[in-house]
Amino acid sequence: MTQPLFRDDAYLTEATARVFALTDEGGIVLDRTLFYPTGGGQPGDSGWIDWPGGQIEIATCIKGTEGALIAVPAAPGPLPPVGVEVILRLDWGRRLRHMRIHTALHLLSVVIPLPVTGGSVSADKGRLDFDMPESPEDKTAIEVALNDLVARNLEVTESWISDDELRANPGLVKTMSVAPPMGTGKIRLVMIGSGANQIDLQPCGGTHVRHTGEIGRLRLGKIEKKGAQNRRVYIHTV
Ligand SMILES: [Zn+2]
Repeated sequence: MTQPLFRDDAYLTEATARVFALTDEGGIVLDRTLFYPTGGGQPGDSGWIDWPGGQIEIATCIKGTEGALIAVPAAPGPLPPVGVEVILRLDWGRRLRHMRIHTALHLLSVVIPLPVTGGSVSADKGRLDFDMPESPEDKTAIEVALNDLVARNLEVTESWISDDELRANPGLVKTMSVAPPMGTGKIRLVMIGSGANQIDLQPCGGTHVRHTGEIGRLRLGKIEKKGAQNRRVYIHTV
């Protein structure tokens, strides 16, 4: 199992780790990593792995079996030996853009309070699919509301709760915008704003900026019809 360092600190850009195993496909399994693996609609991180006598560029990270996170080299080349200590360096510019868009999608789910059926994050745009039979009449109002939430510079905080704690606090589930997955033991909650200014609380394993102001100005993109019940709403950073 690879310890996911990005989960406790999404702003970590460099770390040491040890090579746990190499896969038949040339992937590198580490004992801990700061590379976020492709999942939840967010692309895997890229960066570099350095070790005494070698360096390899990492194109992405994927989930393996039994909690292993696999760093995937950009091109075939000499790999670090199993057991060696390596230095991980994140392509921070790309990840920060993913964090801005990902956090902006939380805001979109606040501004459009409808059930979300899917989503995707890239460096300069993102989308959510909503259970939305009718297209919204006032697109400008959505964009204004999004940028208001950005301008309020609300704090984004993360906390963990156990299944038992959640069962003991049924009111908490009611305040969440998405039902948490049960039976996993521990659930990570992401809260935007706090106290009277709390605007969103939902279970999420992704990477977020610390304050909504870091997202920067947003532009509402196109709204596509996807079947009878669904609409795909795009947002862009500007
Ligand atoms: Zn999230």
